[in-house]
Amino acid sequence: MKETVGDLDVVAASSDPASLADAFADAPFADEVLAHGPKKVYIVTGGVEVDLRIVAPEAYGSLLHHFTGGQAHNIVLRERAVKMGINISEYGLARVGTGEYEPVATEEELYSRLDLPLIPPELREDAGEIEAGERGELPDLIETEDVRGDLHVHTNYSDGKGTIESMAEAAIDLGYEYLIFCDHSQSLRVANGLSPGRLKEKLEAVRRADDKYGEIRLLCGSEVDILKDGTLDYEDDLLAELDFVVASVHTSFRVGESAMTDRIVRAMNNPHVRVIGHPTGRILNRREPYEVDVSRLIREAAAANTALELNAYPDRLDLAAPYVREAMAAGVNITIDTDAHDEGALSLMKYGVSQARRAWVEKNRVINCLPWEEFEKYLKGDK
Ligand SMILES: [Zn+2]
Ligand SMILES: [Zn+2]
Repeated sequence: MKETVGDLDVVAASSDPASLADAFADAPFADEVLAHGPKKVYIVTGGVEVDLRIVAPEAYGSLLHHFTGGQAHNIVLRERAVKMGINISEYGLARVGTGEYEPVATEEELYSRLDLPLIPPELREDAGEIEAGERGELPDLIETEDVRGDLHVHTNYSDGKGTIESMAEAAIDLGYEYLIFCDHSQSLRVANGLSPGRLKEKLEAVRRADDKYGEIRLLCGSEVDILKDGTLDYEDDLLAELDFVVASVHTSFRVGESAMTDRIVRAMNNPHVRVIGHPTGRILNRREPYEVDVSRLIREAAAANTALELNAYPDRLDLAAPYVREAMAAGVNITIDTDAHDEGALSLMKYGVSQARRAWVEKNRVINCLPWEEFEKYLKGDK
């Protein structure tokens, strides 16, 4: 669940490895076969190398652990094991000095032999997880099933492909209790941003749709642009009519760190702004984040009681996990939103959740994990 990967290592357990190896090498997605043995097959699919290794079920835990998590975690874990007289390898555990590795079937068993609870893969970075495990204080990490709604999705009122209804139905299929439509605001013309008049029309259309669907609450918000001076792209009295306001930077990225930070801080202090969308503006592998003092944003968000978004769109994953962890420590809550522009993208939530897990986030810190009754109270209350 790192943001990007170079290649994929797949670990499989089988009592008939040769058949599995043959099936994998012959699979229609295998564009090229680089190596093909009875217990390992390396292929290329869509330009990505995928290495499959197959072991007997009783050795699955050892091999899975070997290929899972950050290197730093495995180094510290190995040092810890040696102090207990145990060597760890991809073949299992051995008493130091014997070289006789005993396979381990599950990761849970491997950790328990080292007097530790199972440490979730997303935490394996040597960032305090082993110490927390020793103390029995590992976080109860958020799961995708904990998410009750999506607070930032687009429709064809601005640059989305879906309608209010089609997006609502996709959200119902995901089991959500609520969905908030946040289309772009007026100055973002390239994204067909809504004039105040069209926003009011949309607000009424959302209210009508909400009456139609008993299974889900449909709400109307806006992803309002943060203008260059930190003011917002709609007047306050219009923002006050909306159910929810996400404020984001989409233009004038090159204003320098202090001006950008001041600009976003000003927006987060608007009483109607509940969350800052994709706070650093990065697009993975394509666009660096704009220059902004994220630590200051986090402190100011805590003071203003404004949430920060963890945008789940796989190209964004913004805020990045290390900042999300910093936000947690500072008492800032987050939202995890897909920013979906079509129905299918609503199911990208898991990628946002994966980054939240990397940041040690528990569900009680994620606003859209609130059940509807509590979420409604949050909306009705002042910031
Ligand atoms: Zn945006
Ligand atoms: Zn958006």
